[in-house]
Amino acid sequence: MRATTTEGREFDLKQDTVDRLKTRLQGPVFLPGDVGYEESRTVWNAMIDRKPAVVARCLGSADVLACVEFARENDILLCIKGGGHNIAGLATADGGLMVDMSLMRGVWVDPQREIAHAQGGCLLSDLDRETQVHGLASVLGFVSLTGIAGLSLGGGFGYLTRRWGWTSDNILGMNVVTADARLVRASSDENTDLFWGLRGGGGNFGVVTGIDYALFPVGPEVVGGLVAWPASEAPGVLDLYRSLAEAAPPELTLVAIMRPAPPAPWLPKEMHGKPIVALLACYSGKPEEGEKTVAAIKSFGKPVGDVLVRRPYTQLQSLLDATQPKGRRYYWKSEYLSRVDPALCAKATEHAAKIRSPHSAVILFQIGGALNQVGEEHSPVGNRDARYVLNIAGSWEQASDDAASMQWARNAWNDMKTFSTGGTYVNFLTEDEGPERIQAALGKGLARLGKVKAKWDPQNMFRTNRNIKPS
Ligand SMILES: Cc1cc2nc3c(=O)[nH]c(=O)nc-3n(C[C@H](O)[C@H](O)[C@H](O)COP(=O)(O)OP(=O)(O)OC[C@H]3O[C@@H](n4cnc5c(N)ncnc54)[C@H](O)[C@@H]3O)c2cc1C
Repeated sequence: MRATTTEGREFDLKQDTVDRLKTRLQGPVFLPGDVGYEESRTVWNAMIDRKPAVVARCLGSADVLACVEFARENDILLCIKGGGHNIAGLATADGGLMVDMSLMRGVWVDPQREIAHAQGGCLLSDLDRETQVHGLASVLGFVSLTGIAGLSLGGGFGYLTRRWGWTSDNILGMNVVTADARLVRASSDENTDLFWGLRGGGGNFGVVTGIDYALFPVGPEVVGGLVAWPASEAPGVLDLYRSLAEAAPPELTLVAIMRPAPPAPWLPKEMHGKPIVALLACYSGKPEEGEKTVAAIKSFGKPVGDVLVRRPYTQLQSLLDATQPKGRRYYWKSEYLSRVDPALCAKATEHAAKIRSPHSAVILFQIGGALNQVGEEHSPVGNRDARYVLNIAGSWEQASDDAASMQWARNAWNDMKTFSTGGTYVNFLTEDEGPERIQAALGKGLARLGKVKAKWDPQNMFRTNRNIKPS
């Protein structure tokens, strides 16, 4: 079968070479045509259609070590699949050996020390489910099917970010299989340069087989959910958003969403497909306080739907899942903002009105708080001046709509990027965003990341990512 070297040359990967890989692994190995191959090779974004030469579903660190050794010995391009949710499809590569982590989803919680150890193939839901047994949570993202590894290695933000910072700020240590096929520990005591690089530098330095997270008391009940109004109410609702967000205690996170109403049971049928503006809220402190804090949202104007209620934290963590299924086509443009300017709100409303797909959205995430109180040099994720994330999220079903939906996102972005801090989120970059956007995402840390890369991966074996050249 056709395979690709690290440098991108095609070669013939012999069946007996693949057989030797099989004998070195405990987990299954798939070739094109095998049951399991399609599931592994496809990712969340259907715009990405790549075909690895071989997929290894690893069962533990020993399998990962064997894959890295095999890739070195046979000079085959290596790619790593965590949750497969990266919009640019960084988990998969034509002709590569895919290290598929989807069987490594164990979580161990130490409730006394408030620490969780999660294997590198976990999804957010795996970690939340186990930590919530103890009334604890780590800082994770908004959609529960996302992989913890890709999210954490690029920064990570969600409902708890305002209280405790980027996900990567709350990592205590990682187990990593390095380019020279060793299993090492990276923490504030061991291999500190590697530990620094991993907290923002993505999959550039090795395969992460386990992550230790600091946990915090959260839930089991929080006040969370959505209130929606017709899009005609957007000016008032966005004004409310701006003023509430600016004054919000760290326990409260607010997200504004403008999009056609999804066919959700909590929205009246006659609204489905019609443009709405919604506020998504999470109050992660005491629910009684939360109910008072969100009262101003619930009593504003005449909502067409309201599911902002006390609910289990794990339920809130998966509330948006159905709106983001695997297999649709996606194209995003994003920027960090230091504030929500009224002129930005006007532009957001204008571009939301131009959405033609039933699934696209303009979203404002609030993230300001703890992450702003840490120095820029703390980790390469940087962007310590970011207080909001603007995400222009194109989402549609048919390839014939690619051009129109992508153009909508680009037009909106061109019109709104003047409000940016100049920084952008590395994990939201699409396939067509190149070096200048990586510079915008990781700029201040790039030189130091190059040095860490030169030490830990001088041959640039781990290059199926937002690649950092060894320097
Ligand atoms: C629907 C949706 C919602 C999202 N919501 C949020 C959010 O709320 N907050 C947020 O911060 N981000 C969010 N993101 C972005 C998310 O952080 C990135 O897409 C991230 O890359 C996903 O991680 P993954 O493991 O699923 O990615 P994959 O596509 O599997 O991998 C992405 C990159 O990470 C590397 N990688 C994966 N696993 C490992 C590993 N074990 N060791 C080393 N490298 C590895 C891969 O090589 C690849 O380069 C969201 C994305 C989607 C699609």
